[in-house]
Amino acid sequence: MIFRQISLVLFFLWLFVGSISLAGAADTENVSIDDLLILVGKELRTSPEKASDVLLKLQSLQSSFSPAQKNSFYILSASVLGFKGRHKERVELVLSYIDHVSDPDYRVRFLYQLSSGYTQLGEYENALMAMNQSILLLPKLTNIHAKMDTLQSAVTLLNSLRAYDEALAYVDRFLALDKADGQSNVKCIGTASQIEINFLRGERQRARSLMSQGIQDCDQVGGKVISQILRALAAIDLIDSGNYLQGKGAGIALLAEFSEVNKSSDYKTQLEEALARAFLNTGNLEQSERYGLIAYEHAKAGNAVQLMEKTAETMASIKRAQGQYSSSLEFYEAALVLKNRVLDDQLHKNLAFQRVKFDTQDKANQMSLLEQKNKILAVERELEKKNNQNLLLLIALAIIILVVLSLWLIKTLQQKNQFRQFSQTDGLTQAANRMHFISFANEAFKMRTGSVSVILFDMDLFKNINDTHGHATGDWVLKSVSETVKTHLRKVDLFGRLGGEEFGICMPDSSQASALQLAERCRMAIAMIDTEPSGRIFSLSASFGVATVDGNGLRSFDETLEAADKALYRSKAEGRNCVNVYRQA
Ligand code: GH3
Ligand code: MG
Ligand code: MG
Repeated sequence: MIFRQISLVLFFLWLFVGSISLAGAADTENVSIDDLLILVGKELRTSPEKASDVLLKLQSLQSSFSPAQKNSFYILSASVLGFKGRHKERVELVLSYIDHVSDPDYRVRFLYQLSSGYTQLGEYENALMAMNQSILLLPKLTNIHAKMDTLQSAVTLLNSLRAYDEALAYVDRFLALDKADGQSNVKCIGTASQIEINFLRGERQRARSLMSQGIQDCDQVGGKVISQILRALAAIDLIDSGNYLQGKGAGIALLAEFSEVNKSSDYKTQLEEALARAFLNTGNLEQSERYGLIAYEHAKAGNAVQLMEKTAETMASIKRAQGQYSSSLEFYEAALVLKNRVLDDQLHKNLAFQRVKFDTQDKANQMSLLEQKNKILAVERELEKKNNQNLLLLIALAIIILVVLSLWLIKTLQQKNQFRQFSQTDGLTQAANRMHFISFANEAFKMRTGSVSVILFDMDLFKNINDTHGHATGDWVLKSVSETVKTHLRKVDLFGRLGGEEFGICMPDSSQASALQLAERCRMAIAMIDTEPSGRIFSLSASFGVATVDGNGLRSFDETLEAADKALYRSKAEGRNCVNVYRQA
């Protein structure tokens, strides 16, 4: 578990490529700025001081930077600080500038600087949060190198936190870029990452099964640096699994050809340490000590605590084998101290990872809780809406039923009314028929508080009209007489046809005088009816009889009707076309 990541080495290989492709300006001044920016990138790994000098030169040209150049300048400045081990300043520099960076392709590179700086400072939670931010930007990235860098730096960080499953998931996403973007080196880097992670998590068999394919992929695209790392891992694996001779042969050959880029790489130190063990196990203590010390020094120079611990342990074994017990003890003690540091660091990392993971999960849970709440609210609203709609529907239905019922009731009442009217009315004259007239008059007599009068009249010599002008003219006369008489009545009076050409008027609350007056008015009106509309001209008249029951009278309707009839008879007897009032004898 001592490897530092392949991706760290890879990252800086693309950094300048990214600068060129992103800056890409045409005029001479800009080209020279771009040249200087590329130069910083080149100097970076071999000589951070020289890179610093170039940056200083660039600083004086800041006023003519394009926005892209300014971004590149800040990224390189942060990188230089990183290479010098000044991670606090590196983080501060990025934090002071990152808010101005809106272009996602640049933003992720700043976030990488931030994440890497925090990792070096042991602020793993901050590192993870910066990584998460850059992962969120992935869908917005247009530059293939930015995508590769983002995924690969996530892999690096997760590996250092021993979150191997998560790291492998990002490697899968990284490998998916191969198909989407046709980047030839994606397969090499992705497979190499898979091999490395399987080494780290102790899945040697899986790592071995991928090895030859990985080396082949990298050789094919000229990825010499990565190819060398993979070969180193293979050699270490041989030694770890007891194939000392083979391992030594491969390892020594590799060390000689380790390229300039990898010369201070952790992988080289690991290989040296493995060779020391191989020599120790094959009894060559001299060579063993030589490689052991080289490895120990390289580990110290690289400040790689895990590697220092491992090489110190190996050195202790070598010293013990040499019989130098006090020196062996010293190495053991150093190893123990380093081991504690490694364990502390691991615990710290593990805690940070779990906390950020928990935080993210917590946020995700809260989000889903909120989402569920919103869903419930929406459903409730929908339900309420439906309930309201149902209520409206119900109300509408009730109204419709009510209206229909009312219409039916009105119609029924109207019909009933019509039937009643029909049953109470004389068809020819539209006056009340005899039955209705009698029942009405009886009621009026029962309810009376004052006097009630009854007028009876009979058409004079009506037979003659029928005989002379025909029955139809007779009917016309009966209708005209009815219409004429009705115009003289009060609302409370009831006019009825009692039979043939005989009519009656029942007058509630009416004195004899006013009944006499009305009878006289009706007699004159009948006599004045113009018969011309009937097609014939002739004279009309009727004879009237009036009878009144006054306040203290005891007579019933029947008696009153009879009395009126008597008065009418007298009018006939007196020569017709006159009114007589019944007077008690
Ligand atoms: P008086 O003055 O004595 O009452 O003589 P009058 O001719 O009116 O009396 P009478 O009782 O002799 O004749 C009544 C006539 O009324 C007989 C009948 O044909 C006629 N009449 C009864 N009802 C109707 C009717 O509905 N239409 C027509 N056109 N004539 C009717
Ligand atoms: Mg008559
Ligand atoms: Mg008559």
